[in-house]
Amino acid sequence: MSHAGTVSFTPAELEAETERLFRVLLHVDCTPGKSWNYEACRGFAPLTLEINRLKKEKDAVILTHSYVEPEIVYGVGDFKGDSYFLSLMARESKAKVIVFAGVVFMAETAKILSPDATVIVPDRGSGCSLADSLTGDQLRKLKAAYPDAAVVCYINSTADVKAESDVCVTSGNVYDIIAALPQPRILFVPDRLMGENVRTELKRRGVAKEIITSDGTCIVHDVFDAAAVADARARFPGLKVVAHPECTPEVAAAADFVGSTGAMMKYVKTTSAPYYLMLTECGLVGRLQVETPEKHFIGGCRLCPYMKLNSLEKVRDALAAPRPDQIVTLDEEIRRRAARCIDRMFELAPAIKG
Ligand code: SF4
Repeated sequence: MSHAGTVSFTPAELEAETERLFRVLLHVDCTPGKSWNYEACRGFAPLTLEINRLKKEKDAVILTHSYVEPEIVYGVGDFKGDSYFLSLMARESKAKVIVFAGVVFMAETAKILSPDATVIVPDRGSGCSLADSLTGDQLRKLKAAYPDAAVVCYINSTADVKAESDVCVTSGNVYDIIAALPQPRILFVPDRLMGENVRTELKRRGVAKEIITSDGTCIVHDVFDAAAVADARARFPGLKVVAHPECTPEVAAAADFVGSTGAMMKYVKTTSAPYYLMLTECGLVGRLQVETPEKHFIGGCRLCPYMKLNSLEKVRDALAAPRPDQIVTLDEEIRRRAARCIDRMFELAPAIKG
């Protein structure tokens, strides 16, 4: 018998779990200095076994954002994807406990949508440079300066900011939702670069909107550089460059495809090209290495220090006995107003997509 925490396993169970993890993760090479070889999988196996047992005992589900490490996504995640998909899963979940392996604003979103569940975040320090760039107070001041504007918040925002906003958007539906709003003036927060990309895209579509933004950026996506894209294209003929709309407009213009993490995955899966440059967080490359092992990714992705605070150990500890700081709590009035802003997105998004 082997033990992890309070749970024990037979050698056969450990071997089977090691095999399962290795078969899934054998092509992954997405975090410098880290390996997913057989020995590494043997090291993960006691934790994934323990977490998967704890999930059943506690009636819990684990939501994993594509940017967290692949042993979490594929080892213990019940649902994996981007903010929009995981928000839907949180809303539909009947579980008593939701563990959100992502960052704090995502766990807050899960709590907004699933108020009766105990929502747990493995590391309270897992912030986000975008979400943390704007408080509810700051947004109230901006709203006072632009009283006629529709207030649109990117889902990467705090519950306070959502509570002050008319409608929430994700990188997958931002263009369609803003285009569908009746107001000609939009106060878009907190991502300045996504706001610039929205301006460009709406102009291309012939939609007249004035877009005012606050000054947040994603520290992962704001540093990609159009010159490096040109250099990569020269070195890898036939390269496809795939970018997230949190990148600069120059980088977005230099890319072959710009979209949400879900849309980027779909693009790679349905495109035939020898090489890909993914201008996003490296966890997405890990997912693609698992799900499209025949494709080649040439590097260039970046690590999000907040997402990488998640670990199997922290997920296990938070599930076994969450500390008060790991349990998400929200003021009920804020939660209710934030839920209205997200529900408005759910109302508008399916209608737009037909
Ligand atoms: S990748 Fe950027 S937007 Fe996403 S959590 Fe990290 S800092 Fe925030």
